[in-house]
Amino acid sequence: MGTATETFYSVIRRQGITRRSFHKFCSLTATSLGLGPLAASRIANALETKPRVPVIWMHGLECTCCSESFIRSAHPLVKDAVLSMISLDYDDTIMAAAGHQAEAILEETRAKHKGQYILAVEGNPPLNEGGMFCIDGGKPFVEKLKMMAEDAMAIIAWGACASWGCVQAAKPNPTQATPIDKVITNKPIIKVPGCPPIAEVMTGVVTFITTFGKLPELDRQGRPKMFYSQRIHDKCYRRPHFDAGQFVEEWDDEAARKGYCLYKMGCKGPTTYNACSTVRWNGGVSFPIQSGHGCIGCSEDGFWDKGSFYDRLTNIKQFGIEKNADQIGMAAAGAVGAAVAAHAAVTAVKRLASKREDAGHNS
Ligand code: SF4
Ligand code: SF4
Repeated sequence: MGTATETFYSVIRRQGITRRSFHKFCSLTATSLGLGPLAASRIANALETKPRVPVIWMHGLECTCCSESFIRSAHPLVKDAVLSMISLDYDDTIMAAAGHQAEAILEETRAKHKGQYILAVEGNPPLNEGGMFCIDGGKPFVEKLKMMAEDAMAIIAWGACASWGCVQAAKPNPTQATPIDKVITNKPIIKVPGCPPIAEVMTGVVTFITTFGKLPELDRQGRPKMFYSQRIHDKCYRRPHFDAGQFVEEWDDEAARKGYCLYKMGCKGPTTYNACSTVRWNGGVSFPIQSGHGCIGCSEDGFWDKGSFYDRLTNIKQFGIEKNADQIGMAAAGAVGAAVAAHAAVTAVKRLASKREDAGHNS
């Protein structure tokens, strides 16, 4: 993997990647980050001259789906490039070293790159019983997390677990699984929620930090605006059906076969901020709604405790999410909630009226 003092460019050249491919990668990256064509040369310059950023990737209570997503980033060049771009000095899931050897690497990286490394955290620490529900390297994960956070430049909270708590924090949360920002309060933290986050969003975040040496612009909940400023609903290809009041009423009904809107089947797209409807999954092949299932809102705080995934938005308290953070988001979600309820009501009245008309014609 090379050393952290090597530049990204020298590492990929050593791996046989051509200069042409390198520039293609830079253009692709600039586009995916929404930075415009001029940013490609800035990215190229930074990657040619700056030493690679050391990254420590730690795992708390989690299922490893974020790692699975990250290493499956669609474009093979992007995946390889990002893994070359950072100096992934420690990742207890994918590194060859284990046990004392792995712990020694952790210590060494911490001492050598004090204040310079990114701490990427997947999962969260359980605080109950002194942190005994997650033991890592012989000690509670929370201790290891605090120790490594102390000398980190910034922290990436990967996924719903590190960002919000996720299913292991579901009520009554017996282990007291706690999001990273409630435990580490003196470091910049970027939340990249989702269960898991989209691979291209993860690589995009890493690329930005590596290139510009700082975190991208965040919203009030700490999420990168470039990927989390729009709702699934805003760019959903089924939206014309929503606007036309054409809803799936039962799985596998005629409306489902026609690809109508899934709102009445519990789709949480109207209150979920994520890039699924634009970036999509598996290299842009599809996303849940395209496969016929509503969004379950996996990137929103508390999605696991908000009742059935198949309840309509009007039946659950979906707007608590933004109450303490993004007022703009709250206003938008509130407006959507009202609109959704109104729209559904209007559609129901129309349906009833047309049924009555039909009944009248037939009598
Ligand atoms: S409710 Fe769901 S399926 Fe319908 S338009 Fe919005 S995001 Fe798409
Ligand atoms: S469509 Fe919704 S539930 Fe599915 S991955 Fe995206 S945010 Fe999560």
